[in-house]
Amino acid sequence: MAKSTLHCSFCGKNRDEVKILIAGQEGHICEGCVEHAKEIVLQEVISKEASNSGYKLKVKKPIDLKKSLDEYVIGQDDAKKILSVAVYNHYKRLNQTTEKTKRAKKDEELEEVEIEKSNVIMVGETGTGKTLLAKTIAKLLNVPFAIVDATVFTEAGYVGEDVESILTRLLQVCNYDVAAAETGIVYIDEIDKIARKSDNPSITRDVSGEGVQQGLLKLLEGTDVLVPPQGGRKHPDQKLIKVNTHNILFICGGAFDGVDKLIARRVNTNSIGFNVNKGLQDEMKNNLLKFVNAQDLKSFGLIPELLGRLPVITFLDPLDEETLRAILITPKNALLKQYKKLFSLEGIELSIEDEVIDFMVKKALEFKLGARGLRSICESMLTDAMFELPSSNKKEFTLTAEYAKAKFDNSKISMLKVA
Ligand code: ADP
Repeated sequence: MAKSTLHCSFCGKNRDEVKILIAGQEGHICEGCVEHAKEIVLQEVISKEASNSGYKLKVKKPIDLKKSLDEYVIGQDDAKKILSVAVYNHYKRLNQTTEKTKRAKKDEELEEVEIEKSNVIMVGETGTGKTLLAKTIAKLLNVPFAIVDATVFTEAGYVGEDVESILTRLLQVCNYDVAAAETGIVYIDEIDKIARKSDNPSITRDVSGEGVQQGLLKLLEGTDVLVPPQGGRKHPDQKLIKVNTHNILFICGGAFDGVDKLIARRVNTNSIGFNVNKGLQDEMKNNLLKFVNAQDLKSFGLIPELLGRLPVITFLDPLDEETLRAILITPKNALLKQYKKLFSLEGIELSIEDEVIDFMVKKALEFKLGARGLRSICESMLTDAMFELPSSNKKEFTLTAEYAKAKFDNSKISMLKVA
């Protein structure tokens, strides 16, 4: 008997061999082929998405990166420029694998060249914006960002945290999405505190200094690291997560107290002597940081291997009166804007007398806390108002110089003055 003329146009099965035959304009498809087609479509979509994303980040050009940094960070032009280039190059390097195939043949020779990581080290007094710079750049790039403090780490086998737990923080901020963490930025604060105590390699063990520096080497360079998911110390029966640090950008920061003297020694200037007045000495100190290089940081106590993995060195200027003033009022997130917003959420309009701003700046300079001091100073002046006003009917509040000074003088912070 002749086969039924109705059949699946894809597999050729007859109507009586299949459960359903769906009619199209010029043919039919059976349920088996629909299932099959669905699988093919899904696979195609997934692989296309993967190759499109490939964690390819859209990074702004260095000039635009710096412009964006300018909105949040006052001054520090050198650091911003150097950081923008380092970050741009880092993510260009990260994206290069996906772009490889598109490049012309003449680039073949360059294909062999492997671009090394451009991890950064920033030298600058406390409260000058090191953390803020790192945090802002991560926000601009929309990549996971973690801040860790170098002082909590100790060499493996001793009390304290393993260096691997640096990556725990990064995993935590991106909800343990390993692929995202592998493109993140880690800011290691207080890197100067793990300097070895003298320039000579010690024969005794230096648990918290050199040992930790050694521990950081592989991490900074790029390797597979087994990370304890909850941080702390690794223990044998813990399930560890494998993270590759090859594309993680490490930015280190530290005050490196006293490095100016090492720079002075190196640049062979003896102007920092006894017969130079204090003003000039300070001026020299400010300028000297500009000349900081790997050799000075080595003399300070960072091991050469670590410095080799932090090839980009930059510095931050100490904050002067003008900068501190600008920090209070100019950036997108300026401190005084934040207080104004806090008050406005309560339905209260906050005005601040100009003289108060001068006073805040003067005190911040006296307390030598950089911009970090500004926050505590503001708190000391505004806490009482923030405590009382929500229960009152007031619709406006003016922070007068008299009120501000009185509150400040009564606060704990006024007792912290550095001699
Ligand atoms: P560091 O890491 O250098 O010790 P931070 O970046 O933590 O200092 O700065 C502390 C706070 O001071 C920041 O959160 C920010 O509010 C403010 N700040 C410091 N430097 C600047 C700056 N250059 N521009 C704007 N704000 C700054």
